[in-house]
Amino acid sequence: MRQLLLAVPFALLPLLSYAHEHEHEHGSLGAHEHGSAQLDVALDGPILEVQLHSPAMNLLGFEHAAQSAEDQATLSATHKQLEQPLQLFGLNGGDCQVSQQQLYSPLFAAEDNDAAHAHKHEHEHEHEHAAKGEHGGHEHSDIQANYRFTCKQPEQLKQLDLAPLFKRFPATQKIQVQLIGPNGQQGKQLSAAEPTLSF
Ligand SMILES: [Zn+2]
Repeated sequence: MRQLLLAVPFALLPLLSYAHEHEHEHGSLGAHEHGSAQLDVALDGPILEVQLHSPAMNLLGFEHAAQSAEDQATLSATHKQLEQPLQLFGLNGGDCQVSQQQLYSPLFAAEDNDAAHAHKHEHEHEHEHAAKGEHGGHEHSDIQANYRFTCKQPEQLKQLDLAPLFKRFPATQKIQVQLIGPNGQQGKQLSAAEPTLSF
């Protein structure tokens, strides 16, 4: 079946679940460089799969567990924005609609846990988690977003435009794109100055 990219995140989950140091040696999929992100795109028939792998810094401006109301608001806004991928990934033509999406981040997991906890215990202990983010070291966290689109006219899909993403998340300075499409595989580094790639 068409599980080209969606099969990968399960293997990546262990990488996302702990903080790591910048100096740490990484494999290509685990690279963590602030300002830089990775995008894997695959078009196979009517199915377009897009997988964004980014340091949380690029999308949130921080990588620690949300501690303040401001952090929570930023986390929530970013989560909502990532749930609207057609506002971030410009697809000219193709008539593509989102059919599946999954967001992964230890920061989102903390958000969900806190929400469940607050609900269960009402307001009694809602701030007790706040202290756990204190530490002497430097934490790093990633965000991964997987999308599957179904395109009614995939042959009309000519270009991927990341300009909206660079505009919405300006801390993202460059995105290394790997694209597999009808013309084979290609790689290109995109930026706000050069945000498009042809299929
Ligand atoms: Zn980092």
